[in-house]
Amino acid sequence: MGNTVGIAGGGAAGMMAAIAAARRGAKVTLLEGNDRLGKKMLSTGNGKCNLGNERLGIEDYYTGCPDLLEELLGRFGTADTVSFFQGIGLMIKSRNGYLYPACEQAAAVLDVLRYEVRAAGVEVVTDFKVESIRLGRRARRFDVQGREGDRSFDRVILACGGKAAPKTGSDGSGYRLARQLGHSLVPTVPALVQLRCREDYLKAVAGVRADAELSVRWQGRCVSRERGELQLTEYGISGIPVFQLSRTVNYILMGKNPGEAGREVEIAIDFLPDCTDSGFEALCAGRRLLQGQRTVEEFFTGMLHKKLMLLFIKLAGLKATENVGEADERKLAKVFALCRHWSVHVVGSNPYDSAQVCAGGVPLDEVTQNLESRLVPGLYFAGELLDVDGRCGGYNLQWAWCSGFIAGCGAAGYRENRISPI
Ligand SMILES: Cc1cc2nc3c(=O)[nH]c(=O)nc-3n(C[C@H](O)[C@H](O)[C@H](O)COP(=O)(O)OP(=O)(O)OC[C@H]3O[C@@H](n4cnc5c(N)ncnc54)[C@H](O)[C@@H]3O)c2cc1C
Repeated sequence: MGNTVGIAGGGAAGMMAAIAAARRGAKVTLLEGNDRLGKKMLSTGNGKCNLGNERLGIEDYYTGCPDLLEELLGRFGTADTVSFFQGIGLMIKSRNGYLYPACEQAAAVLDVLRYEVRAAGVEVVTDFKVESIRLGRRARRFDVQGREGDRSFDRVILACGGKAAPKTGSDGSGYRLARQLGHSLVPTVPALVQLRCREDYLKAVAGVRADAELSVRWQGRCVSRERGELQLTEYGISGIPVFQLSRTVNYILMGKNPGEAGREVEIAIDFLPDCTDSGFEALCAGRRLLQGQRTVEEFFTGMLHKKLMLLFIKLAGLKATENVGEADERKLAKVFALCRHWSVHVVGSNPYDSAQVCAGGVPLDEVTQNLESRLVPGLYFAGELLDVDGRCGGYNLQWAWCSGFIAGCGAAGYRENRISPI
């Protein structure tokens, strides 16, 4: 009989680790704090589960150790995810490179994983919240304690997730367990989350959706840029481009050193990102020919969403009802300029409850290329608990599959560089 392996956390990474270890001869026990496995997975991809992405590169991830991450993703990449899931019965489809179960049901992904966990002979213990892990008196055994009792294993994999969506079970307790065992933590922030802004007047444009380019401006320069559908809300900004920028903004707001945190971060917004400067000038000049007897509101109708134009008219100090021919030229020019150079000021994000992932965690330089702890041999890590977070688009689940698989193989005693995903 191979190693006994205890896995704390039965989410995406924990289930993958359990299957990989059990298939390689380990006697595996999966300890899950909830009353069922994989609760979070059901809400992924709006219930459809975007489980991977055909276009995957190191630039789709954030971590303190990109070299190791690149190596890990090279050992279990998108093609491995596809063959693994096809091998356990899931039909997969690609929508512009974004991978989903063909039936578009996240429950199907969870179900095939649960069936395979059972088929591989993994012992599943639900309602078992791991509260502490200690190196036992007998050399190289881990004593795992929960309110439900104590267990002892040769190897342990921590796959407890981060703090995002804590109602699904990932409440940050994995960080406490890692610390207990001597590991440090890269500070965590909510990521892939909505941002809250200082501007009160956003209420007037709540509900507007528009294609836009967003640039995070910090200390006089652009530090990150995204394009996509921006959603304006009562309290701030949302939508995929905002999600993508949110971890960068949250880390700036947190400050690298205590006392250095920024109180707010400017996001510049261009609602006409396809326009060149000369094209925009021509567009403005052409529009001025329309002047006639129109009011200011009528003059700008048809450029952007009506609510946005009304806001920009107000911000420029004009009245919507005044005759455009008599309006102040500089104020009209300001309305045009706002279409390309509007900015909002972010003062924070929504909390972990609304976040899709948690950035930060156990640093990758504290683990080996098999995801084994460099501090405590026999202890492994997988999933979001590690300091790796990906962009929106299937990259976070890809990391869960990749790290779960590698940690599972490692804990079972397999250390080859290239391992068959089946
Ligand atoms: C709304 C939403 C939508 C998302 N959509 C996508 C998507 O479409 N594509 C994508 O790639 N990513 C998506 N993500 C992110 C993705 O779901 C996560 O990155 C991924 O699930 C992380 O896997 P994990 O196994 O590391 O952690 P989790 O999935 O968080 O699993 C951790 C498990 O550990 C258990 N646990 C925690 N502490 C303990 C303990 N002390 N003892 C025992 N058990 C414990 C928890 O109950 C949980 O079941 C989404 C996230 C959310 C919240």
